[in-house]
Amino acid sequence: MKTFIATIIGKPNVGKSTLINNLFKRHVSIVSSKPQTTRNNIKALYEEKDFQLIIIDTPGYHKPKNKLDMYLNSQVRQSFKEADGYLFIFDASRPINTEDFELFEKMNTFPKKEVFYILNKVDLVSKEEKEERIKEIKSNFNITDLIEISALNQNDIQKLIDIIKEHSHEFEGELVADDYEADDKFIVSEIIREQILLKFRQEVPHSVAVVTETMKYEPEQNLLKIYSVIVVEKESQKPIIIGKGGKAIKEIGIASRTKLLEIFDTKIYLELNVKVKKNWRDNNDIIASLGYKK
Ligand code: GDP
Ligand code: MG
Repeated sequence: MKTFIATIIGKPNVGKSTLINNLFKRHVSIVSSKPQTTRNNIKALYEEKDFQLIIIDTPGYHKPKNKLDMYLNSQVRQSFKEADGYLFIFDASRPINTEDFELFEKMNTFPKKEVFYILNKVDLVSKEEKEERIKEIKSNFNITDLIEISALNQNDIQKLIDIIKEHSHEFEGELVADDYEADDKFIVSEIIREQILLKFRQEVPHSVAVVTETMKYEPEQNLLKIYSVIVVEKESQKPIIIGKGGKAIKEIGIASRTKLLEIFDTKIYLELNVKVKKNWRDNNDIIASLGYKK
């Protein structure tokens, strides 16, 4: 089995998400998600008989305001570390600018890896404009190969896959989709937990945990179904979380969904349940399922 893990890099609107979505539309997808608003690393798995490709979409760094931001930044760093290579995307329909240079420099501060330079949106420009752009990019970035694609064109995407495949290495065993899902579940759980803490402030102590048990993407409806459990330590906390006639948990659900919609490029169905688990913080299974690693 050959594999390749690629981190996708490019300024906003170059078509990173379009490429990922179209790449995975035809095949297996874990959670396919969004662009601009992307906060977490979207990892998606493409599979052929003898080849697996993981694409990591990075949201870029942001100033850390809280623990979650710090986690996300570490995820970005992690994605640069774990990748076999980078897909660096340029936009044929716009001149290169400082954003391209900044990203390029940032990439070069990370471990040196194989880079596939891609010129996207070639369908939007004339042949002359395209040649002009290619010249501009090659000379400014000192690049010899630029893969021309339109992310909207399936043939181009296949061409790109074939090129990456040529450069991929043999890997013992298989990359398991579940490994790559865990991060998304963790993020979803953190977002829900954040909403709970915002809503209850002092009332509910920080011992509340959220476990996202299932995330299931339904491609036909572009619907992401999420099933999460809110874990509390005391029986007395359960009615607080649920609220009168379910009012509180409904509000948590609405607030969480709003946040999740900013992240995922899908419709969201979110189901929340409350469970009491005494001393969950001492329970290794629960801790592991929360995504906290030792
Ligand atoms: P991202 O910010 O890099 O993730 O960019 P998006 O994937 O969100 O794409 C930004 C916009 O460019 C969207 O409106 C896409 O439909 C459009 N787009 C992306 N790739 C192509 C392409 O190859 N051709 C054309 N015509 N439009 C594209
Ligand atoms: Mg994007």
